[in-house]
Amino acid sequence: MTMSGSVSFKNVSRTFSLNGVDFAALDDLQLDIEPDSFTAIVGPSGCGKSTLLNIVAGLDTDYGGAVAITPEKASVAYLFQQPRLLPWLSARRNIMLILCARGMPKQEAHVKADQVLSLVGLEGFEGHYPGHLSGGMQQRVALARALVVDPEILLMDEPFSALDELTAHRLRQELLSIYDSKPRTIIFVTHNIAEACSLADRVIVMNSRPGRIVAEVPINISRPRNIDDPALQVHVHSIISHIAQ
Ligand code: ADP
Ligand code: MG
Repeated sequence: MTMSGSVSFKNVSRTFSLNGVDFAALDDLQLDIEPDSFTAIVGPSGCGKSTLLNIVAGLDTDYGGAVAITPEKASVAYLFQQPRLLPWLSARRNIMLILCARGMPKQEAHVKADQVLSLVGLEGFEGHYPGHLSGGMQQRVALARALVVDPEILLMDEPFSALDELTAHRLRQELLSIYDSKPRTIIFVTHNIAEACSLADRVIVMNSRPGRIVAEVPINISRPRNIDDPALQVHVHSIISHIAQ
């Protein structure tokens, strides 16, 4: 059984230097993320969104303050803007690779890979190579690869930003249906405020120089949501006003 993951940031700071001058990519960040919640993080380019995800993923350990993940050994999956598939392996083999690396026998990994590809709508494309799949389908494979390990925490860094709007719309709907069928902690970074408001339980708004949280906006609107819903538009406008300040 999967245990859910919570993430808590206490006074987290991350400093980088640019031309010999230090600046705070994250400045004294406080944030609590509940188990199985769907959190979106929005903010202008350079406000520290990816840095925040990298810290949760354990890719960046050079920060100040404390980050507590519960359970301590929660499995974390990371989906990026680009699918980052291995081009010389079929969709199925890209996924089997992850499972076999964890010690799963090949036959079982084959079955499991096909199951998760079907979950993301890729039944019939298991044997296709990434180069023969559209950008949207490649991102579906990447999502399948992230989901196959049944992560307690799913990190998504602008996962649909490189896709055309229609494809992005479909993938958002599928992400929500996957989330509905099995909630898990999702931290979804985007610079698309409408996307954040249409997906998340709560939108964390950041601003840059220094990277800080300037607002936390709960979105108490039942799903599926309509982007034209005036209640949703109220949130979109309030978030824009926070960032514009
Ligand atoms: P976002 O994802 O919100 O666009 P990032 O978290 O990628 O922002 O970056 C925040 C700030 O930190 C930016 O100004 C970026 O240039 C800087 N930065 C990120 N990673 C590094 C790094 N490894 N070295 C130096 N500066 C970095
Ligand atoms: Mg980024």
